[in-house]
Amino acid sequence: MSKVERVYGFLGLGNMGSPMAANLAAAGFDVVGYDAAGTKDRRPQGVRGADSVAEVIRAADTVLLSVPDGRVTLAIADQIVGISDRRATVVIDLSTIGPVAAQDAALRLEEVGVTYVDGPVSGGVAGARARTIALMFGGPTDVFEAHRDVLASFAGNVFHVGEQAGQGQAMKLLNNFLSATALAATSEAFALGQAYGLELETMLDVVNVSTGRNSATYDKFPNRVLTGTFDTGFHTRLMAKDVRLFNSVAGEVGTLHEVSNAVGAVWNACEDAMPASDFSEIWKYVVNRSRG
Ligand code: NAD
Repeated sequence: MSKVERVYGFLGLGNMGSPMAANLAAAGFDVVGYDAAGTKDRRPQGVRGADSVAEVIRAADTVLLSVPDGRVTLAIADQIVGISDRRATVVIDLSTIGPVAAQDAALRLEEVGVTYVDGPVSGGVAGARARTIALMFGGPTDVFEAHRDVLASFAGNVFHVGEQAGQGQAMKLLNNFLSATALAATSEAFALGQAYGLELETMLDVVNVSTGRNSATYDKFPNRVLTGTFDTGFHTRLMAKDVRLFNSVAGEVGTLHEVSNAVGAVWNACEDAMPASDFSEIWKYVVNRSRG
């Protein structure tokens, strides 16, 4: 596959999509992007702008998605099916939508000869900018090999986790359940510590060289909470969605999900209380809901 000939479409130029598309273009790939909320304001340097999803489907061989949820992915899949003069033959979904929607999208697109694969990502907006994000590819080996250099241009850690669409999503959901648990649990732990007069800095110093160390104590708290910036770029509503997806999938396949039910309830309540918040702001939610 030549870099020069193939065109890459990018649908969704939000917090994650914009830096990923920027890195793809910076690596020399021909990228055409569109965002439903306004391409002009979000289009990164080096990315050509399109006026619609349809324009991207007609212009690009491989279309990458970074959209909010499965509803949007499925709507785009239906649009692709409805465009007979499409150029797109491969869709790589970088969004977190869960395995059920991914399998549904793959089936709908297979009908018209378009291959849909999973490629959800982890590592946040800072990781997307720095090209250090992990990408969990669920799809055929030949499609993976054909896109290895494309994926590596914006994701520093690319994993081929399985041959089926949905397997990347399962990997992503279990990771985010762990991340959601770490942040919610750390917030509750530190609220208790504060009630005993312990400083946040002290608790972080101790926990980070002790057995409670986790992604919230070595990253979110020192870099986003202590700084007062609360700027991971990952919305509470997206994290709440991810834990709901984990719970619903665990319910379907029959694996135990008692901890995730409890964690999900906390994230849903935080979303209700602070609908526009960054997910690091769960610390404020836990403090506000604590007595004293
Ligand atoms: P975001 O809300 O910032 O961006 C999503 C973008 O998709 C928006 O700009 C929206 O206008 C656009 N969009 C919606 N429908 C569209 C359509 N039909 N065509 C084109 N554009 C459309 O969200 P985000 O934080 O960038 O997350 C995107 C996806 O990546 C989500 O599935 C999220 O769960 C996942 N994710 C986010 C992070 C993070 O740290 N922000 C990390 C890993 C994964």
